[in-house]
Amino acid sequence: MHVPRAMLIAQLRTLGVAPGQVLLVHGSFRALRPVEGGPRGVLEALLEALGPRGTLVMPSWTGRDDVSFDSWTTPAAADLGVLADTFWRMPGVRRSTHPFAFAARGPRAEDVVVGPLPLPPHAPGSPVDRVHALDGRVLLLGVGHDGNTTLHLAELMAGVPYRVTNAITVLQEGVPVRIEYGENDHCCRRFELADGWLRSAGLQKEGKVGHAHARLFRSQDLVRLAIEELAREPLLFLHSRDEACAECDEARDSVQG
Ligand SMILES: [Zn+2]
Repeated sequence: MHVPRAMLIAQLRTLGVAPGQVLLVHGSFRALRPVEGGPRGVLEALLEALGPRGTLVMPSWTGRDDVSFDSWTTPAAADLGVLADTFWRMPGVRRSTHPFAFAARGPRAEDVVVGPLPLPPHAPGSPVDRVHALDGRVLLLGVGHDGNTTLHLAELMAGVPYRVTNAITVLQEGVPVRIEYGENDHCCRRFELADGWLRSAGLQKEGKVGHAHARLFRSQDLVRLAIEELAREPLLFLHSRDEACAECDEARDSVQG
């Protein structure tokens, strides 16, 4: 059944999406569909649920490290999905001019997306940190916490010791230049731990949006709980050696040999 627009909006409201909020959305259209109006219909329902005083934010970074980023033409990374790649092209949407871009529409859009290149990508001062500072909500639409970028901010605020080497290409005086940087990166599957933390604290609302399972919580609640957990065990988000995860092993290898 195609979920009608009015039902999508009602589902979002029931979940706790309310007018005036700053709302960071990570979404899988595949999990939501079929819905009236396709990907654009989902985005319009989100904007309507937030009302004219609300601000919708989505990740919008590039998946390419070998070409420079152009906020007017560069597609969003394929793994961000069709919702993210549709959103930045919609009228009235602002997009960061650096490769770790977010896109936003609403009165706080500029406060969220404008700023210098953050390194690592989700460091304090980055768009995801602005959502946190504005007491924004995070909505996971048909995706789990493994796609929850705000946890990378929490890792940096907690001072996790791991960094893997990644690269981007930026224009310097019109010339493409490759920059290597250290990022708190790994497979992110253990970010799913946040589900239990938020649930047992009663700080995550869950329900259906379209055909997808959705989770809604405050960015500040998530970051506070994650920092408490990371203070006890800084490598908590990395798979153990015997789980043989190449990405987490690389992050572990970066910690003091
Ligand atoms: Zn792993």
